[in-house]
Amino acid sequence: VWTALNTNKRLTDARRERDCQGERQLSRDISRGYEAVPISCVNGVDSEPCPDNFKYIPDSCLSSSLNLDKDITHLQHCSCTDDCSSSSCMCGQLSLRCWYDSGRLPLDFCQWEPPVLFECNHACSCWRTCRNRVVQNGLRIRLKLYKTEKMGWGVRTVQDVPQGTFICEYVGEIISNSEADKRENDSFLFTLDNKVGEPYCIDARLYGNIGRFINHMCEPNLIAVRVFTVHQDQRFPRIAFFSSRPIKAGEQIGIDYGDNYWRVKSKFFSCLCGSPQCHHSAASNPTERMIDHFQCCEGVLPPFLI
Ligand SMILES: [Zn+2]
Ligand SMILES: [Zn+2]
Ligand SMILES: [Zn+2]
Ligand SMILES: [Zn+2]
Repeated sequence: VWTALNTNKRLTDARRERDCQGERQLSRDISRGYEAVPISCVNGVDSEPCPDNFKYIPDSCLSSSLNLDKDITHLQHCSCTDDCSSSSCMCGQLSLRCWYDSGRLPLDFCQWEPPVLFECNHACSCWRTCRNRVVQNGLRIRLKLYKTEKMGWGVRTVQDVPQGTFICEYVGEIISNSEADKRENDSFLFTLDNKVGEPYCIDARLYGNIGRFINHMCEPNLIAVRVFTVHQDQRFPRIAFFSSRPIKAGEQIGIDYGDNYWRVKSKFFSCLCGSPQCHHSAASNPTERMIDHFQCCEGVLPPFLI
């Protein structure tokens, strides 16, 4: 068994090497050391340099005063004295139950309509190490920014990832929808549809993290989950991407941008995800006029749209 495993590992390593052949490393770490693990950038396709028309930030930022509620007395919290593994944990109850199992979402997590997750916070009685904290621990999975053949820049994992693993957050500038309407480039917006009051969104055009490079896929391997950590201001959930199935090392990661996105964007370009299930390819939308938009949107397939 040992020999078999070892041979297997050598083959995998060899394959990885081959995959990486001809790829130039453009950056050792696009996060400039701000993430717990470095994110390198490579290009084996053309001569385009590492994207530098945005500022990498590890956490979402504000550019105007939105009166984010950080009042500690407003935080719902638990009074657990264990590691928050019992059903009496209030933070677990707010999330329907504490879903995290060894830091991952379980196989029975509802991927179609994910519940909002309330992680433990500094008002809780538990330790910082309790089991109800994952997104607040930040990026842990090794990711790589790379130039794809057809879809501009994309993101792939450097390691095998089991289902339910936290991959990364969608980080950017938190702005109101009215501010978003004034902005010329809508390619990096992720809406935080808010049932109470004015809606907001995250714009990763000028400030963002690796999440801004994740492409659309008609058969995605990620889901977006709304998560509260250090604050619980309902207007501003964090958007966390978790793997919706096991992902192999070297595989591109992608999320379904949704029908609203394609209703607008299919007039300008079509999906090149290559999946047999593709719903937004030129062939699946024969009535729409297709033009290749990738040259005029900075080589990046725009992630999200209101
Ligand atoms: Zn608890
Ligand atoms: Zn806890
Ligand atoms: Zn708690
Ligand atoms: Zn597609």
